[in-house]
Amino acid sequence: MTSEQRADGAALVQNIIQTFISDSSQNSLQNQNDEKAFDQPLVGFSSGDDPLYQDFKAHVGPFHWTPWEIFNKTFPDLQVNPGELSVISWILPQTETTKQDNRKQTQYPSERWARARIFGEEFNKKLREKIVNHLEAEGYETVAPMLSPLWARRKSEAFWLSSTWSERHAAYASGLGTFGLCDGLITPVGKAMRVGSVVARIQLPPTPRPYKDHYEYCLFFTHGICGECIPRCPVGAITEEGHNKLKCHKHLRHSVPGYIMTHFGFKGRGCGLCQTKVPCESKIPTKQDVSEEEGSSPPTRRGIL
Ligand code: SF4
Ligand code: SF4
Repeated sequence: MTSEQRADGAALVQNIIQTFISDSSQNSLQNQNDEKAFDQPLVGFSSGDDPLYQDFKAHVGPFHWTPWEIFNKTFPDLQVNPGELSVISWILPQTETTKQDNRKQTQYPSERWARARIFGEEFNKKLREKIVNHLEAEGYETVAPMLSPLWARRKSEAFWLSSTWSERHAAYASGLGTFGLCDGLITPVGKAMRVGSVVARIQLPPTPRPYKDHYEYCLFFTHGICGECIPRCPVGAITEEGHNKLKCHKHLRHSVPGYIMTHFGFKGRGCGLCQTKVPCESKIPTKQDVSEEEGSSPPTRRGIL
């Protein structure tokens, strides 16, 4: 494929995603005013043969798919090399109103945040389907790993609960951001966002990764300061040691749903307190965003999440 063809493919994909987000009535919090769930996206690409995908397998667990593995499981009759595939990844930023509401919360999510978690994620699912259908119609076989019936949660020795595909890792590989102390992905529009991806048999120009380290945007790891996500967590799931997935999971699964049903009247979960009212909420934070320095030597890096 020539670089011009790759650039045309990138423009096609960008257009599908941006148009759906701006025009679709399904991009909605499904509240009284039918407010939009998400602002305009960031989109990034990575190649199916990017060695990072092998690294994820080594760090997360052997069950974690490379792009080629899930493509091959979905289209077993096609003979495809990893380098013929691209991962298309996107970031859906929460709106300012949703973030404003969640900043005020100290125990449970705001109604808008909970709606973005449930109805916004339904839209994110539709977006994955939209891209798959559109690219398939153009002749490019495509799979959304998170929508595959083969996708599954897995116990990981290193990270307790994991899965066969991680949207955040795909976004990291696709140049869209790096991880934070709380495990969230810090992107140029912050970490108050949702993320999605598909794997397609189309060659797209990989998005440059403007970072060398998987924690590069987190002030705690780079400067030994901040840690503002730690007190934001109502159940103590974030410490200087990182994110305790078990504590977080218990809160999200056992405590939050009852609150949402009682107060907002729908089935839901979510939290996002550590994603809001923190320096990395809406941008890549800088030292100037932290009022009081809490330390001076960056802690030791951990392996990729
Ligand atoms: S709030 Fe601070 S410590 Fe926590 S993820 Fe963001 S930058 Fe890192
Ligand atoms: S999402 Fe999890 S880690 Fe973040 S504040 Fe809520 S319970 Fe804590």
